[in-house]
Amino acid sequence: MKFAVSSKGDEVSDTLKSKIQTYLLDFDMTLDEKEPEIVISVGGDGTLLYAFHRYSDRLDKTAFVGVHTGHLGFYADWVPQEIEKLVLAIAKTPYHTVEYPLLEVVVTYHDEEREERYLALNECTIKSIEGSLVADVEIKGQLFETFRGDGLCLSTPSGSTAYNKALGGAIIHPSIRAIQLAEMASINNRVFRTVGSPLLLPDHHNCVIKPRNDVDFQVTIDHLTLLHKDVKSILCRVANEKVRFARFRPFPFWKRVQDSFIGKGE
Ligand code: NAP
Repeated sequence: MKFAVSSKGDEVSDTLKSKIQTYLLDFDMTLDEKEPEIVISVGGDGTLLYAFHRYSDRLDKTAFVGVHTGHLGFYADWVPQEIEKLVLAIAKTPYHTVEYPLLEVVVTYHDEEREERYLALNECTIKSIEGSLVADVEIKGQLFETFRGDGLCLSTPSGSTAYNKALGGAIIHPSIRAIQLAEMASINNRVFRTVGSPLLLPDHHNCVIKPRNDVDFQVTIDHLTLLHKDVKSILCRVANEKVRFARFRPFPFWKRVQDSFIGKGE
């Protein structure tokens, strides 16, 4: 089997990365950074986001597994003390995978020919470079509201514990194929009125953001920040592609939520 290991880049993660590589090579696995079947991400959730984007053009052929060198992660469940066990499991057992939904973002421009497509594992945020974001929000082809405020955040279920949570969005179990739209500080008055609560859209609905003013936009896709000029619309929906995580033991989502945000209790 072909594998790759990506590291956060700090000393602890880099040392662990070389150890994992050596062990897997000893098991006759092949190091292939271009076309790996399994990617072991060593660091935190942020590291897994980078690994995801590096291999996002071959998601159907690649499974991910995360080792965390910091605090417990949402995408990283193995700790450094367990890497011998993990390596053995990768090399010797036919693992099963779990699939999580992704967010598809398509930006179109007034220049009709152009469109850019992105996949997000956590979320996409849309803000204006100057002043408030003023935009029409359409759901399934119908105008839903005209938003004015700091920005909008569209997240995946697995990204619902990240930026979305800080915006008061709900935590969504990743088995639910949906995306969530959350507001960032909306201004509400007689002209601009928004629903004021996060919305969950199923996979057969889409959301189109149409900027009303002609300013430049800052669009983030997970950790990537992109500047867009001349934007006509930004379409968001559940992507056809999915991300696959290799599972060698149970990793219950609600347990992760509890451990991260509530603590283990008494
Ligand atoms: P960063 O600013 O260095 O770290 C953001 C934090 O979010 C890290 O602690 C990271 O965990 C954590 N995180 C990432 N994905 C998560 C998930 N699905 N559930 C819970 N926590 C998660 O940025 P980064 O490492 O490049 O990550 C980019 C992400 O930062 C974005 O996708 C966005 O969700 C998040 N973010 C959050 C806020 C906020 O909460 N106000 C603001 C901006 C961006 P690790 O330490 O394990 O890597």
